[in-house]
Formats: sequence, structure tokens, C-alpha cells
Amino acid sequence: MFEFFNEDQKMLRSVVRELVDKVVAPYAAEWDEKDHCPKELFKVFGEQGLLGLFVSEEYGGAGLGLTERAIMLEEVARHSSGFAIALMTHDLAVAAVYNFGTEAQKKAWLPKLCSGELIGGLSVTEPTGGSDLGNQATTIEKNDAGYLMNGRKVFITNSHIADFNIWTGTSGVNDKGRKMLSALIIPPGTPGLSAGRKENKLGLRGSVTGDTIAKDVQCGPDDLLGKEGAGATIALHTIGHFGRSGISAFSVGIMRGSVEEAVKFSKERIIYGKPLAKLAEIQAMIAENQIDYEAAAAMLYNATAIYDRGEDAIPRIAAVKYFSTEAAIRSTRRTMDLMGGYGVMNEYPVGRFLRDALANVPSGGTSQIMRIIVAGNILK
Ligand SMILES: Cc1cc2nc3c(=O)[nH]c(=O)nc-3n(C[C@H](O)[C@H](O)[C@H](O)COP(=O)(O)OP(=O)(O)OC[C@H]3O[C@@H](n4cnc5c(N)ncnc54)[C@H](O)[C@@H]3O)c2cc1C
Repeated sequence: MFEFFNEDQKMLRSVVRELVDKVVAPYAAEWDEKDHCPKELFKVFGEQGLLGLFVSEEYGGAGLGLTERAIMLEEVARHSSGFAIALMTHDLAVAAVYNFGTEAQKKAWLPKLCSGELIGGLSVTEPTGGSDLGNQATTIEKNDAGYLMNGRKVFITNSHIADFNIWTGTSGVNDKGRKMLSALIIPPGTPGLSAGRKENKLGLRGSVTGDTIAKDVQCGPDDLLGKEGAGATIALHTIGHFGRSGISAFSVGIMRGSVEEAVKFSKERIIYGKPLAKLAEIQAMIAENQIDYEAAAAMLYNATAIYDRGEDAIPRIAAVKYFSTEAAIRSTRRTMDLMGGYGVMNEYPVGRFLRDALANVPSGGTSQIMRIIVAGNILK
């Protein structure tokens, strides 16, 4: 396999790989089959310093960047994209507090989130359409005690396991008459916040996805994240950088798995008295998988490096998200084809990879929305 990384990043990758080989790889198929989220592993990843990799050390993080976080998520997703999205979404709450929180909020929450003592979630999407971010029915009203929130969110990762939640909701209209969003931190144990319907997903099983409901949730004045009206900026920055680079990392991990499974199978499977790998058509499929994998990985680590040097990377990451999620579907489909009938047997992981690859497409924003972001950036 090829390399992008400096020595420290390579070291991180091998540390994570060793951990994943022990605590993720042997159980990934079972988590998928039982749709079980191994939430006890948050503490294990926290102890290894892998939660909040991009958070500075004073708040309990590792002081690294989006690149190191993508390396970690790629390694987890090589075996379990389901558990990877649970970790990734936890990090969205971390990123929102780290990038937009007050000093007091960072000190109060980040060490507990980075250690895995608390599990995080970010509730943005509503039944009225995740793509239509500005049109939220959730209300955040200012009152004497702080902020009162009512609403319902859908498709929320970690819905039933998160102790620490961030919500967005409408908090009035601006001078152009458009809805303004604000973001609130909902501290653990706040009355009125609950989890509703739990989804039964095609892929990314091993993560919990469901509704979150706020009924007269009263937050204090200090629970506002950023300024009033900053909710859309917070959501777009957090999902645009941390969400979509994470899902791209899953897709790269899936593609690496797809290449490795194709190589292994084609060398072991004997037909016409020789390994499948001797057939030119099979070699072409393996080459296409490797090219898609290399292209997606190069795009991903280029985009995360741009963010890590302090630049906005939303259009770049949207391009990677589009390319990598679509390429992961092509790649896993090719590996399944290459395996003949074995490709659809559940004893092999490639069918699960394809289901996970499909589920990555809407998560964090659809392919259509990614193209709109890329085109908007070029045309502006
Ligand atoms: C596994 C999973 C985990 C998720 N986790 C979270 C989470 O933790 N937190 C959270 O807040 N959300 C989460 N989501 C929600 C996710 O962000 C949304 O599903 C996504 O933004 C799309 O929204 P939607 O499903 O409502 O689709 P819609 O917005 O209803 O889109 C439907 C279709 O219309 C198209 N479309 C919409 N607008 C346009 C347009 N302007 N031009 C052209 N086409 C358009 C879309 O591309 C799509 O094809 C998760 C989703 C999944 C699948």
C-alpha cells in the first residue's frame, strides 16, 4: 500500500491498527448482524487518546489534527464503519464545543468527552429534510432561565447512547425575514430530552440511529453555543469539515478492505486449474479498485491537510465526500462480482462493506448536495 504520512502519523496508524485488530475486527460482523453498538469501547478509545485527537492537550485532547482523526477513522472503518460512525459523531459534539465554545464550556465538557466518560451526539436533521438546513421546526426561545427548546430530530447517530448533546433550532428571524438558527449544549440528565424511534438501517449497523425529542427542555444562559443566530455556521462548519471528512475516511477504509478482500480471494480461488488472479478481466477489476482507493485517499488527506494548515476546506471535503462515497460503492460491487457466488455469501465481509458504502451516501449530506457545494465554489 502507498503512503502519505509523516513518521508520527505512521506510528499513530500502526497503534490504531493494532487496537482495531484486537477490539474491532473480530467482532465487526457480529455487531452488524445484531445491530449492536459496543459503547463500552468509547472508554477504550478515550484511554488511548483517540477521542478528540484534534483537541489541544489543555482540554484533554492529543493536540493533533483532522488528518490524524481521518487516519484513526479509516483504520476503524476498514473493519467496522458502523462503529466508526459512532466514534465520528461523538467527535462532532467535541468539534462544535472546541471550535465554538466558551472557555468555561471547553473546560467543563472536553476532558470528559475526550476520555469517553461522556458520549456525544449532534442533532441537526429534522423530518422536514436534512438538506434544507435553515428550515428547522425546532424552537429555541429565550426566557428568564436561559433557553427553552422544543422539537424533534431524525436520523441522529448515538441517539440512544449519547449523554451529551448539541442541538440546533430556530431562534427568531433575521432582518431579511429568514429563520435564524442557534445551537445549544444539552448537559447530561437535562429533563425533557429523550430518544424516540430507533432505526433499522441497511448499513452502518453497529451504530445507533434514531429520533431525539426535546419537550420543554430548559437550558441555562451558559448553554448557548457561540452567539445567538450562529447555529447554521456551527452546524455547517462542524458537519462540513468533521462530519464529511469522517465519512470520507470510512469510504477509504471500506475501499482498502475491498481491495484486500479482492486480492486475497482471487489468489486463493482456483478455477480452470489456476488462481482467479491470472485472468485479465479479474486483474482489471482489481486495478480499478486500487485506483479508486488511491484517488479517494489522496483527495481525503490533501483536504484534511488544507484544514490542518488553517484554511476553510468545505468545498474540498465535499468533493472528497462525493467521490469517495460513490467510489466505495463501485469498488465493493466489483469485489462482489469478482467473487462470483461467494460475493453474496455473508461469511465474507464484502456484502457488509457494500451496505455500509451505500449508507455513507446520505450521511452528512447527499451526493447532490456535495455537487452543489463543489459547483457553487467554482462558479462564485
Ligand atoms: C446513517 C445516518 C446517520 C446520520 N446521522 C446524523 C446525525 O448524527 N445528526 C444529524 O443531524 N443528521 C444525521 N443524519 C442525517 C443526514 O445528515 C441526512 O439524512 C442528510 O442531510 C439528508 O437529509 P434527508 O435524509 O432529510 O434527505 P432530503 O434532504 O429530504 O433529500 C431527499 C433528496 O432530495 C435531494 N435534494 C435535496 N435538496 C436538493 C437540492 N437543493 N437540489 C437537488 N437535490 C436536492 C437530496 O439529494 C436527496 O436525493 C444521518 C443520516 C444517516 C443516513
